[in-house]
Amino acid sequence: MHPLSYHRATSVSDAVTESSQPGAALIAGGTSVVDLLKEGSIGPSHLVDISRLALDEIRPADSGADDSGAHSGLDTGVLVGALVSNTALAEHPLIVERYTAVSEAVHSGATQQIRGMASSAGNLLQRTRCPYFRDPDQACNKREPGSGCAAVHGFNRMHAIFGHGYDPSEGVGPTTCIAAHPSDLAVALVAFDALVHVEGPEGARSIPVHELLRLPEGHPEADFTLRPGEVITELALPPFAGRSHYLKVRDRASFAYALVSCAATLEFDDDGRISRARVALGSVAARPWRLPAVEQILVGELPSAELFAAAAARASDGSVAFSMNSYKRPFSRSIVRRILSQTAGLEPLPGPPGTALSASVGGLAGTTRPRDELVGEAS
Ligand SMILES: Cc1cc2nc3c(=O)[nH]c(=O)nc-3n(C[C@H](O)[C@H](O)[C@H](O)COP(=O)(O)OP(=O)(O)OC[C@H]3O[C@@H](n4cnc5c(N)ncnc54)[C@H](O)[C@@H]3O)c2cc1C
Ligand code: SF4
Repeated sequence: MHPLSYHRATSVSDAVTESSQPGAALIAGGTSVVDLLKEGSIGPSHLVDISRLALDEIRPADSGADDSGAHSGLDTGVLVGALVSNTALAEHPLIVERYTAVSEAVHSGATQQIRGMASSAGNLLQRTRCPYFRDPDQACNKREPGSGCAAVHGFNRMHAIFGHGYDPSEGVGPTTCIAAHPSDLAVALVAFDALVHVEGPEGARSIPVHELLRLPEGHPEADFTLRPGEVITELALPPFAGRSHYLKVRDRASFAYALVSCAATLEFDDDGRISRARVALGSVAARPWRLPAVEQILVGELPSAELFAAAAARASDGSVAFSMNSYKRPFSRSIVRRILSQTAGLEPLPGPPGTALSASVGGLAGTTRPRDELVGEAS
């Protein structure tokens, strides 16, 4: 029997104090933590429940303004409380209208029941779905540092093709890890250059979401750059005045993690040229994988099928695949071409923007009706 104490936090500072203890872990919606506890993949001795803290508001960063979605001056961005549920995030008018890719990403994940329980911060901090991490009988450097990595020569269909640092000539070592991070939301947030605000024993700080999740780089057991005792209090979405989109390729039309996903955000100047571009792939690395070579090709250009084909051709540059996941390389190129074309309006979205329909490559089960009909229904 593994002893486990429980504390319900009464304030953020109480949560910081309690979670600074050795062996402590935070629990928010619990949809990830409880599974990991039951599987024996994690073994905290003290659970700090933050689910009752008042961190469940979505508001314009210039707070005090109307948060109904009719707000006129969104030039300062939006703040999302760490405990805002995935459902509330995906359905908030400010998010659907201004940060559409965030809404699409969240809608495309998990199930309605899980999205209702899961928190925004918890979504970012979920652990990998690598099956060996969740099986205490298998070698896994992330769960048990130094024990090896069963995935390299095992079932690696869902694993990383970027940023894992694996060198076949050196073989599996005590720090090898080729796991991918599964969060859909994280990919969309990286495409908006979003930050998380945290409170910790040494005070408050902000971390770009891109830097919150880390590559294995010698320490595969550390998935995140949070310091002991740090609590995420909110997500910060910077001002954005362009078009955005999220696309997810998966085995099933619902209730499935991404094989490869992609978020794109494009802003345009008065001549219709692309003035700023962010493109990030999901489920291909231990963190959302930005594609700077693709972005550079886009900036300063007018949208066209030729431009997007040329940019997408660079989407798998530098990837290193394993026995079962080389499909992710052509998938990366084709999803980037398609998302750019749809985001710029050259190709129609598969469904109404801000919904799982628009985020799902191939549509959802039972939705073969024409797009115009679906859009009409949603408006
Ligand atoms: C069947 C199933 C299918 C799923 N499918 C998908 C999918 O397709 N796409 C996808 O993206 N996700 C998917 N998920 C994962 C789901 O999105 C996460 O489980 C959920 O978002 C986690 O949120 P939570 O509040 O329940 O986190 P918890 O389980 O409470 O916590 C998760 C982690 O975050 C930490 N944490 C939580 N809040 C804070 C905070 N404020 N500050 C610091 N640390 C914190 C906890 O300590 C823990 O380490 C699926 C989950 C299940 C069970
Ligand atoms: S890929 Fe990472 S999480 Fe999976 S078995 Fe290897 S070390 Fe563990």
